[in-house]
Amino acid sequence: MTTSSPRPTGSRHRQVIAPVSPGSGTLRPLGIDDVRIDRGFWADRQALNHDAIVPHIAAWQERTGWTANFDRVVDGTVGKQRRGREFSDSEIYKLLEAMAWEIARSGDEALEDRYRGIVARVAAAQQSDGYLNTRFGNPGQPPRYTQLDWGHELYCYGHLFQAAVARLRTGHHDELVDVALRAADHVCDAFGPDGIQGVCGHAEIEPALVELYRATGEPRYLAQARLFLDRRGHRTLPDIEFGRAYFQDDVPILEATDLRGHAVRALYLSAGAVDAAVEQDDDALAEAVERQYVRALERRTYLTGGMGSHHQDEAFGDDYELPPDRAYCETCAGVASIMVAWRLLLRTGDLRYADVVERTLYNVVAASPREDGKAFFYTNPLQQRVAAQETDPDAVSPRAHAQLRAPWFEVSCCPPNVARTLAQLATYVATTSDDGVQLLQYAAGEVVARLGDGATVRLAVATRYPDDGVVAVTVVEAPDRPWDLTLRVPAWASGATVEARGEVTPAQQPGHVVGGLTAGDVVVLRLPMTPRWTHPDPRIDAVRGTVAVERGPLVLCAESVDLPDGVPLDSLCVDPMLPPRAEGDGAVVEGTSVMFAEPARSPYGPPPVPRSVRSVECRLVPYHRWANRGPSTMRVWLPTV
Ligand SMILES: [Zn+2]
Repeated sequence: MTTSSPRPTGSRHRQVIAPVSPGSGTLRPLGIDDVRIDRGFWADRQALNHDAIVPHIAAWQERTGWTANFDRVVDGTVGKQRRGREFSDSEIYKLLEAMAWEIARSGDEALEDRYRGIVARVAAAQQSDGYLNTRFGNPGQPPRYTQLDWGHELYCYGHLFQAAVARLRTGHHDELVDVALRAADHVCDAFGPDGIQGVCGHAEIEPALVELYRATGEPRYLAQARLFLDRRGHRTLPDIEFGRAYFQDDVPILEATDLRGHAVRALYLSAGAVDAAVEQDDDALAEAVERQYVRALERRTYLTGGMGSHHQDEAFGDDYELPPDRAYCETCAGVASIMVAWRLLLRTGDLRYADVVERTLYNVVAASPREDGKAFFYTNPLQQRVAAQETDPDAVSPRAHAQLRAPWFEVSCCPPNVARTLAQLATYVATTSDDGVQLLQYAAGEVVARLGDGATVRLAVATRYPDDGVVAVTVVEAPDRPWDLTLRVPAWASGATVEARGEVTPAQQPGHVVGGLTAGDVVVLRLPMTPRWTHPDPRIDAVRGTVAVERGPLVLCAESVDLPDGVPLDSLCVDPMLPPRAEGDGAVVEGTSVMFAEPARSPYGPPPVPRSVRSVECRLVPYHRWANRGPSTMRVWLPTV
C-alpha cells in the first residue's frame, strides 16, 4: 500500500461541516454543527435513522455478504465467491458516509467503533496503486476498467470520496480518507488527459471529485472532474437498447436542453456540473444545467417532487409524460434532485429551490422508510392499483417496484441514500450571506450563522411544522450592525403573514425579509395549513380530470383502508367545489362512489352508465405515511365528478 503524496492542507475557502461547501456563491451553507434540529418531524426521523435505519442497513450488508466482499479480496476468494451486484461496494461507502455524518451529529462513540471496523476491511482490499473494487481487477475477475458502461467502478469511487469528505469535514483525517485520496490519485493517473479517454456509465464521481477538491485543495481532482464532464456526451459509451441518452452520453452537457435518460445518472451529473462550474467560474455551464433542471421541474416532475416516469430504464419521460400508476420516482432520484436544487440555491440565491428541497424531502425521502425504519420504498408511485402482499422480513426483494416497503433489495441504492440524507439534514435548514441569514426549512431547534464579517446571529426556532404552520423565531444573539433575517415563504403559502415588532404584514414570496432585529426580538411566520385542492396542467394527460389535496408541504393520498367496506378506491370521485376539511395531519373529502357494470368483452363503447352512486367521506393521509397499515390500494390524484 502506498502512502499518499503531500498535498495542500485545506482549500482556498473556509470549509463548512456539510456535504457541499462551494468556494463561491450567493448563499453559503451552514454546517451540521451550526444547526440543531431538536423536536418534530425531522428530529423524529433523525432519531429513527440513528436507532433503526443505519443499524438495519449495516446488518443487511453483512447478511448479504456485500461487506465481506472486501475480506474476500484480501483472502483471494473474491473471484469465485463475490456476492451482490457490480455496484454493491458503493452501498457500503454510502453507509460509511451516513455513519460519518451521524457520528458527528450524535457523538455516538459506539457508532464510531462500528464505522472503523468497516473502514479497516475496506482499506485492506485496496491495491498498491490505489485501485479499489471487489468486482473487477482481482484474480478470477474481469480486468479493471473493461466495462465502463455497466461496471460502476468510477461510480463506486464517487461514493467513497463523499464518505471521505464527510470524515474530513467532521474533523477526522482517518484511514478512510487515506484510502480515498490514494484512489482519487489513481483515478487522476488512469483517466487523466493522457489516460483512458472514457467516462463511467453512471455519473457520481463528478460531484464527489469536486467536493474532494474543496476539502483538500488538490487541483487535480477538480481538473479530473471537469475532464469527465467534458468527455460525456461524445458517445464513448456504447449504444444500448435505451440509447446513449440513458448515460447522458448522447449530447454534451452544454448543448443539452433537457434532463433525459436514467434519472439518478442525469441528476448526479447535473450536480457535478454545477459544482465544477462554481469552482471554475463557468457561468455558461451552470446556466445550461439550471435551464435543464428548471424545464424538468416544469414538465417532468411529479407532484411529490419525484422524478422518473419509466420503469424499464428508470428514466425521465417526455414532457408531461407523468403517469401516476407507472411513476418510477426512485428514492435516489429524489435525493439527487435535492442535491441539484441545493447547489443551484447556493449559487443563485433563488429561494424557490428550497421549495423543491422541501417538497422532495417530505414526499419522497420521508416516504421511503417504514415507520420502524426496517423497510423501504425504492419506487414511489402516485397510484397503487392492486394491494400488495405482505413482504417477508427475511427476504431480499428482487424488484425495485415492490408494492410494500421491502427490508432489502438486490439493488439497494435507496436505503443508504435515505440514511445519509437524514444524517446531514441539518445542513439544509438555513444559509447565510454577508448581511443576513435565510431560514429555509422549518424545524424546532437552533441556528447559529456567521455573517460576512464574522458577526454571529443565533436564532431559536419554535414550531410544530408541518403539524401546524406557526414558526416563531427568537433572535438570541445578533450583531450591532444592520442585518436581515429572510424567511422562506413557499409558493403554496398564499395568505401567509409575518408578525414582527407587533406588526402583522402579508408575507412576501419567495422570501420575506425582516431587518433591524436585535437580541430578544421574536418574528412569527404563519403559513396557511388548510388543506387545498391542487390541479394538474391539462397537458399531463394521465391525470387530466383529477385533483389532488395538499396540506402545507405534504401531498395527501387516499388509501383503501380508509374507505367504507364495499367502496373500492377506483370508484371514488370528488367535487373540487367542496373544500377538503382538515383532520389531524391529513384531510377529509366529501366524495361519491360511482360504480359501473363490469365490461362485457371490451372496456370501450358508448358512455358508461353508473350501476350505483353513493356518497362517501374519505380520509386522506400524508403520502409519506401510506402503506404503513398493511397492504392497500392508494391514489394521490382523485377523479372529479
Ligand atoms: Zn436508489
